[in-house]
Amino acid sequence: LTKAAFARTAQVEDKVGAYITLTEEQALADAAAIDEKRAAGETLSPLAGVPVSVKDNICTKGVKTTCASRMLENFLPPYNATVMDKLHAAGLVMTGKTNLDEFAMGSSCENSALQKTRNPHNLDHVTGGSSGGAAASVAAGEVSIAVGSDTGGSIRQPASFCGVVGMKPTYGTVSRYGLIAFASSLDQIGPFGRCVEDAAMLADVLMGHDKMDSTSVPREYASLTAGMNADIRGMKIGLPKEYFGEGISEEVSKAVLAAAETYKQLGAEVVEISLPLSKYALPIYYILSSAEASSNLARFDGVKYGYRAKDFDGLVDLYVKSRSEGFGPEVQRRIMLGTYVLSSGYYDAYYKKARAAQRAIRADYAKAFEQVDVILTPVAPTTAYKIGEKTSDPLQMYMGDICTVSVNIAGLPALVQPCGYDAEKLPIGMQLIGPRFGEQKLVNAGLAFEK
Ligand code: GLN
Repeated sequence: LTKAAFARTAQVEDKVGAYITLTEEQALADAAAIDEKRAAGETLSPLAGVPVSVKDNICTKGVKTTCASRMLENFLPPYNATVMDKLHAAGLVMTGKTNLDEFAMGSSCENSALQKTRNPHNLDHVTGGSSGGAAASVAAGEVSIAVGSDTGGSIRQPASFCGVVGMKPTYGTVSRYGLIAFASSLDQIGPFGRCVEDAAMLADVLMGHDKMDSTSVPREYASLTAGMNADIRGMKIGLPKEYFGEGISEEVSKAVLAAAETYKQLGAEVVEISLPLSKYALPIYYILSSAEASSNLARFDGVKYGYRAKDFDGLVDLYVKSRSEGFGPEVQRRIMLGTYVLSSGYYDAYYKKARAAQRAIRADYAKAFEQVDVILTPVAPTTAYKIGEKTSDPLQMYMGDICTVSVNIAGLPALVQPCGYDAEKLPIGMQLIGPRFGEQKLVNAGLAFEK
């Protein structure tokens, strides 16, 4: 399997560019070790020997972890993220580290300072982002599962653009220890797969309590794979009217509404619901996530680790030059935005208000989940656009996150899977949102649709 993964990668990687680093030698050694264990009759986990790619903002001991930034271009973490230890313990074989928007800030993978990744369905189009390399590695057949991270849609939107399955788990169910922080209260690691079952199997490996992450939730983590059941008769599915109006392309709306029809035929009950605060989700997200980013990225000062400017005149100049040269334009924009909303005089007007509004968004969802089991929405307003089409207008780029950010604001789980194609044969995805810890419902509903 591992050899096949690298053979396929050798065929397509030139065009797709999913990986920043390939770890073929280590992968073949790991795979051989699994073969030996199997030959010796050891009981192995179901995914033992399966190749998996890992987003390059997850720390891998001794393997470069760049965040697609000049700042960390040569960074070798001295430790593994918890999810890496979990992958190893389950016998999965890491093939390499995948491309992303720098520090996971972006929606098209075009903010990577290191390379371009192209959509395997059409090489002129973006993969989505920020986990564009992860989604592309699965869509191009280089691997069948991948690990990504999602702060405001970074697993779900590239999954949608690349026609694969992706899941953002409930906040606190996957350890963030060793995930290089963007916005700590929103970040969550999650799986990509070619189908719902593959993603669920990988989720089972990733999820679980970890004492190294203070936001990790101690609870029973039942196996999603074991609980899989495609019989969804009687399930109540909500269609929030705010997600099907202005700003969402007709092709996307149509495909998602057709999925709702399919659900009716499968015996689910589909009802219209309202999430009236949806329109505030985008500004809330960009205030909170930038505020946290400005604080989290303060550690990259050219002293402890990462890029250091060559010529500088004193300590302040070292900071300024290292950060100006090490961070790309989008990262600098977020740091400035975040510093602004946290500064005295503006804190109350922006940051504090956004936190209060976050609670209102949570209440909005809580009310909806009194009526329905899961919520069905589009993932993004459009399908994958052309490379370069939106790079000159950051606000236009932010608008593309309108359907995904409220899920992170509310800490909820959501599953994305393909539900059709547009006129150019680019994939359209749909999003199922569940209540906190409602992953099983999402997997079951996803599976029923897929079948
Ligand atoms: N596109 C969003 C942003 O740029 C979300 C990114 C993410 O989920 N990491 O912030």
